[in-house]
Amino acid sequence: MKFCSACGAPVELRQPPDDNRLRHVCTLCTTIHYQNPNLVIGSIPEWEDGRILLCRRAIEPRHGLWTLPAGFMENGETTTEAAIRETLEEANARIAIGELYSMYNLPYINQVHLLFRAKLLDLDFSPGVESLEVKLFEEQDIPWDELAFRKAENFQFHMGDLTAPAR
Ligand SMILES: [Zn+2]
Repeated sequence: MKFCSACGAPVELRQPPDDNRLRHVCTLCTTIHYQNPNLVIGSIPEWEDGRILLCRRAIEPRHGLWTLPAGFMENGETTTEAAIRETLEEANARIAIGELYSMYNLPYINQVHLLFRAKLLDLDFSPGVESLEVKLFEEQDIPWDELAFRKAENFQFHMGDLTAPAR
């Protein structure tokens, strides 16, 4: 952040009184611009026969790779509304939300990822603007190495902290 979104003046990194870390503070109107982690919400849409709906990404990062429908939560919506919306946007697919499947902290990019299990309600799906292709996969055909997601035994809820991938 370089400029204040309230008045347009430059911001500087400064530790406000009674705070314990550096914040972007406006040099003119003194507004403190807090920055907090973003939530990325996704679903694991499952058809009646156990197949899972995946999307092949039409955008960077990871263009061309298969992924679960997921994206940034918007203000004014709940986590399940975000999962339903992202699944509709990326796969034109309707789901009923099930159990929370996983929660991962990614502090190196200031994100928290939540994945919900979901029941795919019909087979009338198609690629959204951010997808090249949308397809149901049998478990043995899922390209696990392309997914940022692992299947746990019995789909039990799990959580964890991820560190930056080694380069
Ligand atoms: Zn300002």
